Amino acid sequence: IFPGSVDAAGQRATLGVMGGGQLGRMFVHAAQRLGYFTAVLEPDAQSPAGLVSHHHIQTSYDDPAGLAQLAHLCQAITTEFENVPAQALQTLAETRPVAPSAAVVGIAQNRIEEKAHFAACAELSGVTCAPYAVIETPDQLQAVQNDRPDLLPGILKTARLGYDGKGQIRVKTVAELATAWTELGGVACVLEKMLPLTAECSVLVARGWDGQVVSFAPQRNVHVDGILAVTHAYEGNMPPALADKARDAAVAIAHHLGYVGVLCVEFFVVEDGSEHGGLVVNEMAPRPHNSGHYTLDACDASQFDLQVHAMAGLPLPQPRQHSPAIMLNLLGDVWFDAAGQPQEPAWGSVLSLPGTHLHLYGKTEARAGRKMGHLTITGPDVASVKDVAHRAAGLLN
Ligand code: ADP
Ligand code: MG
Repeated sequence: IFPGSVDAAGQRATLGVMGGGQLGRMFVHAAQRLGYFTAVLEPDAQSPAGLVSHHHIQTSYDDPAGLAQLAHLCQAITTEFENVPAQALQTLAETRPVAPSAAVVGIAQNRIEEKAHFAACAELSGVTCAPYAVIETPDQLQAVQNDRPDLLPGILKTARLGYDGKGQIRVKTVAELATAWTELGGVACVLEKMLPLTAECSVLVARGWDGQVVSFAPQRNVHVDGILAVTHAYEGNMPPALADKARDAAVAIAHHLGYVGVLCVEFFVVEDGSEHGGLVVNEMAPRPHNSGHYTLDACDASQFDLQVHAMAGLPLPQPRQHSPAIMLNLLGDVWFDAAGQPQEPAWGSVLSLPGTHLHLYGKTEARAGRKMGHLTITGPDVASVKDVAHRAAGLLN
């Protein structure tokens, strides 16, 4: 599907996205820059992506009429959030190319299936996930006490719908585990052993319909309260052997899934004395990812550009990073002072710093923990990027 093309019926080349959040917004921007028209299906009238798209279909994600309209308007369709009903993607796929597929999005939506997939390709990827047990019944809860004391202390995570550290509870004892499971509603969960992390990183891979794969170098991520806070993207952000291993593992996982589009694979690094450290695969996101936002400003093709290329069947150029970068997430907290009073962030001072790239998502209401935007810092060398990031963070806290 070439950008700018018009079909026999006079319809312009249009790309569609399920979901109207910030990832959809940045996808829409990338598609439009290439010359595509865009359509967003999103119930919220004021969504970040809906506000900037040529077409905004304002229905629920599983509305048959809305889906039919999206399929009618678009030559190819993607998703920007992983909890899109897999059935909706299935419906769209009856008439249009949909990337990623309903099947792989379904796997990523469920930690139990996700971990089973990681296990199934462990030999190819060279990585395993943290020790865990599935907890769907009281018997399985009991079995932890008897058979898997090694999983405590651990983290109980709901199999579905968790994000940004939500839907998980840290537990030290069997008693705490039982309480936590009740608190999470007794739904399907995994209990994961708490690992002593020395770092976290993620890898973005783009894979085309023909199986061609390109990838970005791994970025190192710092989470605070389960939410991504800072991404370090520059050479030397982690030991080279570890970076190579993570990148190879992510590519192997994408191939094994038969994935099409941009996939983000998240890893834990656990000190194990070996050259590459203990690399443990955590989870995957079937879409561009918050940890890849720096690619917009620091690379010659962003993760959103590659998502457009992959779904539209355009060639996938190997992206090149032309500047070291640090990304700071801007949560709603930045819009409140220490006393909890609303404040306008110090944009004037921040934007006067060299190499700062501000991205706000167009959300009107700032709330604690809500992703409002991000700030990427680029520069001539790692030291100056770190220095500016440090000053910017100081101005925003
Ligand atoms: P989410 O879907 O909310 O991103 P994650 O499984 O990635 O859920 O967990 C969020 C964060 O919690 C991780 O980035 C990491 O900092 C921490 N965490 C999760 N699982 C473990 C674990 N097994 N051991 C140590 N820390 C963990
Ligand atoms: Mg995560």
